Amino acid sequence: MPTWIDTHCHLDAAEFAADTDAVRSRAAVGAVTHCVLPAVEAGNFDTVRALAHRYGDSYGLGIHPLCTGRAHTDDLQRLDLALAAARDDPRLVAVGEIGLDYFVPGLDAARQELFYREQIAIARRHGLPVILHVRRSADRLLKHLRPAGVSGIAHAFNGSLQQAQEFVRLGFKLGFGGTVTFETARQVRRLATELPLEAIVLETDAPDIPPQWLYRTARQRAAGQPQARNEPAELPRIAQVVAGLRGIGLDELAQATARNAAQALPKLGALLAGNCHCGLDPQSMLAQNLDAPGSGSGAGSSSPA
Ligand SMILES: [Zn+2]
Repeated sequence: MPTWIDTHCHLDAAEFAADTDAVRSRAAVGAVTHCVLPAVEAGNFDTVRALAHRYGDSYGLGIHPLCTGRAHTDDLQRLDLALAAARDDPRLVAVGEIGLDYFVPGLDAARQELFYREQIAIARRHGLPVILHVRRSADRLLKHLRPAGVSGIAHAFNGSLQQAQEFVRLGFKLGFGGTVTFETARQVRRLATELPLEAIVLETDAPDIPPQWLYRTARQRAAGQPQARNEPAELPRIAQVVAGLRGIGLDELAQATARNAAQALPKLGALLAGNCHCGLDPQSMLAQNLDAPGSGSGAGSSSPA
């Protein structure tokens, strides 16, 4: 049975606060053997670190563009110190989630850019890849990446083919998740189909970006059905859609995307190589982690995608 890596999952989000263990268990039972947990602000650094250790997963530390409004500029120093403190932590694999969002109205563009530029410099100093939030901002992100020589993962990628190719040229992998499951998302489906297999990784962005089978339309929501919560256990079904679009088998997709994730996040590669779960029942693996003494459940902080 193929196993999967969810390269972008906000298990620390408030939506999961009541049942984080159950959510992670369901994912493990569904053969999602590893989740990468990006932070969104200084206030959730400790939580993502604790959750990654609790579940045998990995994490990133960074300040999300949608959190820059309430972040203090001191938080950049907090990030720097937290990265230094976690230098020997094999589960710290990236600086992220960072980036630029030109879609959500009311954000201060200059402030977003300040946090983005500074965090690129911090990632470079710490020798870490980045996990990027890209929303109508690909060209601006690329402009700062080119001279920095930093790579990583551009998550929930939705830019043009040309922009995608430029990220790939810089050594990035592009993350695909729930959006590919919508037939109307033609551009993203085209990218997921046509980009070289070496360029793509899989993600859920849970609890956000529900796949088509969970999505509640505006009309359904108006009729009282709340938007469904996405979770990492949905990844294998999303992977089926990607495999179908590309006309390849699930094993081939699982192996390629795991290899790509390890390449984009070298410490993740080292972690997986040193801790091979091949042939190990994912449920017993998780049970082991959950039985570890001193593990406390994650508290919620809200996730801005
Ligand atoms: Zn995210």
